[in-house]
Order: sequence, then C-alpha cells, then structure tokens
Amino acid sequence: MKTYLNYINGTWMTSQSGELLDSIDPATGAFVAHTQSSTARDVELAVQTVSGAYTGSDWGSNSHRRASALLEWAAAIEVRKEELASLLTLENGKPIREARVEIAGAIDALRYCAGMARNVFGRTFQPAEDNFGFIMKEPIGIVAVITPWNWPVLLLFRDLAPCLAAGNGVIIKPAERTGAITAELLALLADIPEFPSGIAALITGLGTVVGNALVEHPAVDMICFTGSTAVGKALMQKAAAGVKKVALELGGKSPNLVFEDADLTRAIETSCRSLFMTSGQICMAGSRLLVHESVYETAVDIAKTFAESLRVGHGRLETTDMGPIISEKQLDNVLHYIEQGRREGRVITGGYRLRGAEYDNGLFIAPTILDNLSPSSCVVQEEIFGPVLVMEKFRTEEEAIRLANITPYGLSAGVWTKDVSRALRVARQVQAGTVWVNGYNKSYAEAESGGYKHSGIGRARGVEGLMEFTETKHVNISI
Ligand code: ADP
Repeated sequence: MKTYLNYINGTWMTSQSGELLDSIDPATGAFVAHTQSSTARDVELAVQTVSGAYTGSDWGSNSHRRASALLEWAAAIEVRKEELASLLTLENGKPIREARVEIAGAIDALRYCAGMARNVFGRTFQPAEDNFGFIMKEPIGIVAVITPWNWPVLLLFRDLAPCLAAGNGVIIKPAERTGAITAELLALLADIPEFPSGIAALITGLGTVVGNALVEHPAVDMICFTGSTAVGKALMQKAAAGVKKVALELGGKSPNLVFEDADLTRAIETSCRSLFMTSGQICMAGSRLLVHESVYETAVDIAKTFAESLRVGHGRLETTDMGPIISEKQLDNVLHYIEQGRREGRVITGGYRLRGAEYDNGLFIAPTILDNLSPSSCVVQEEIFGPVLVMEKFRTEEEAIRLANITPYGLSAGVWTKDVSRALRVARQVQAGTVWVNGYNKSYAEAESGGYKHSGIGRARGVEGLMEFTETKHVNISI
C-alpha cells in the first residue's frame, strides 16, 4: 500500500505533522492508501515556494511555455488513463465507466486551456486624439484550488487548467478522501520540464486545517473552491478579511421540467440517470423531477422501472451503474433525508441501505424515489447528495417555473418539451447557470458553468472561466 507525500517546491515530502489520512474504498471498506495530514507550516512552505517559482520564472509571461506544458501533461495522463481511472474508482467508489469520463474530461480541459493560454486577450481604445489606452489581462498570482471528492479529477482540472493557462502559481488542496488520485496526477506534472519547478504544489490534509490556512494566508491571492454551500459561505467570510478573490461552485438542487409534449421515456430516464450518477453525489444532479400532471403517473412508472433496473455494486465491474456512498457520515445523512421523506410523503421505490453479500462491507443505498412532498419540505429544498430523487407535479408553465426557482440553489436545470418557444421561455426564466433543453449533463470545456443564488460565484470553463484567473489592468498613455 502506498503512502503519498506532499509535492512542494518540485520535491515530494512528508508533512511536518508526521500524521496521515486514510483513503478507503467505500465499496468494501478496504484500505487504499495513506496521504499526508498536513499543517499550517506545510502551507507556509508551499506558499513561499510557489511564490518564488512564480516571480522567479517566465511562467506568467511566456504563453507558449504554458501551452506546451499543459499539452504535455494531457499526453502523460492519456498514456496512463486506464490505470488512473481504476485508482479513481477504488478511492471514490464510482463506476469505472464514469471514472473514464472524468479522466477524459481532465485531458480535454488541459487541451482546451493549452489553446486558451495563447489567447489571453485584452483590448485597446483611443478616447481622445492625444490619449491611448489598453486593457491588459495579467495572472492574479498565487491561487489555492480546493477540490471535493465527488468528481475529484474533472473538477480539479476544470479549474487548474485555466488557472495555469492564465499564468498563475497554484497550490492544490484535494478533499481528504481523494488525495491519492490527485497525487498520481501531480506526479505526471513533476516530470514535465516546461513547468517551472515549484509552480504547482500539492498539499493534502483536513479542510479545517490546510484549507483554512490557505484561505487565511495573506500571500494567497485567490481561492477557487468547489464544495458544499456551508463551507463555501464560511470560506468567503474568511477570505473577506484579506479582500481575497473567491470563485465558488457550491451545492445544487437542480430541477428537470418535463412538459406533456416531451419524449416522456427519454426525458424521465435521462433525468433519473442524471441523479443516480455518482450515487447522486454530484452538485449538478437533477435531483428534482417536475412533471406535468397529465403524464405524471406514467412518469412515475418509468422512473420506478428505471431505478429498479440499476445495477448497484463495486465500481470496478463494467456492469455497475451505481456505486457506494463515500462515507458513513454521508450515508447517515442520506438515510436521514429518506426517513424525513417517508414521514412527510411517499416512497415510490428504494428507501433503504442495501445489505447482504457484496454490500455488507460497503456503503450502499438503493436508488430511491420520493414524492407527495410539500415544496417547503427540507427534502425538496436541501441538497441531499445521495441517490434520492424527488418527483413533483405541476399544472401550468408558470407553476413549473415558480417551482423550479423555489430552492436557494441555481446550478443547473433541464427542460423537456418539443415546443421550441416554450423551451426558450422557460430557459430564460429558470434561475440557473446552465439550462439543458431535451438533455442533461452536457458539459463542455468551452461552455461556462456555475451557480446562481447559493450555488456559487463566478464561472468555470470557457472564456469567462479563464478570465476568472486574471487581473485586469488599464494602461493609459498620453501622447
Ligand atoms: P463535501 O461535502 O463535498 O466534502 P466540503 O465543502 O466539506 O464538501 O469539502 C470540499 C473541500 O473543501 C474539501 O477539500 C475540504 O477538505 C475543504 N474544506 C472543508 N472545510 C474547509 C474549511 N473550513 N476551509 C477550507 N476548506 C475546507
């Protein structure tokens, strides 16, 4: 079994704490690897050395170098993609097919951002005969990227690739449960000479220790965080003390709105798939399924059949559709919401922890669908982060939109209809950073994503995603 080290100043090193964190396979409870449980002193060293690499190299000014570095990293990941996908599945529990999608998404983000590195454009203007101005885009400086465990590779690269493409130095703090896969990916960067030694550091450890130290460190210029809304809010408050830039992608409670003219089977099955993916532990999960009353009962039948057909098991099996829940704590949390849903409404299917044979040592919950809940119920309003779909009924387009916007979240939404005008009307009025029409979870490196309301601040991916990692400077010349 491997013990992973921190990567600081181009060197692999142990934490000054001498303590370790465990990575556990949530499907079996088996030990996967150790990572360092680092301290504020490790953070201090990382910040100093990344700052040194940033100011002491041409990283911020040499876009060709950055483009080559990102392309080489993509190529190195590509060579080992199957092995990396296996480790991801082992550490996180997700089905191997999904792990492959994550690795492919990381490679794609690097390649897209390699092109973007050479397109960090500003603009020019001439306000008067004797005056000329231009707007420059510069790197921000030192950025801390704090990642979650649910999509630990794709979400890391979604932010890391533009962060590096824009010319910043970066300190990566992965989630406690997914330090091993993150360290393996950083090990591939370590061998690429185009990256100045020390420009990227990896520190594993507790969010409350390492994450907090990064947020409080005066020399960290920006915090890019993906995780829960509760931690995001606390982090934003702390960052305010240092007037630090934050980019946050937080929780979601995303609705799929299915109108009576939709291709019902496709709409319901895709909506269900979007929720049961990663066992519902995904911020963009379509966790609310709102269906027109005229087709509601048919929709319930389709959803129930779909949920009951899912093969739940160890992620390494090619046949597995849904894996385990990441931790005991998260499992208890999900079961708590299910019990609340049972008390207040109806359990259409599932509603229990899976036991017996292959499930006994793991953390598995049956795909669950609830309905007959009040829109004000915590089961409808709050992010459960588990395989629990809530179905709701609407009568009119207005009611569908009102219900869609009823939670504090606004990450994404799906609209299912054959009527193009209605699709556009609804898409305009739903408060969400991404609206898919007749589809779901179509994410692209070139398409901005992010949250309205409590789902976040700033945008990842696309041109705006790159610009998040830049400062804007007006240089004005009097002629
Ligand atoms: P999740 O519920 O998905 O684990 P969290 O918001 O708890 O989401 O964690 C997301 C990331 O934030 C993880 O890397 C975690 O270690 C980190 N984190 C947790 N608490 C803090 C904190 N107080 N300050 C900074 N980072 C934190």
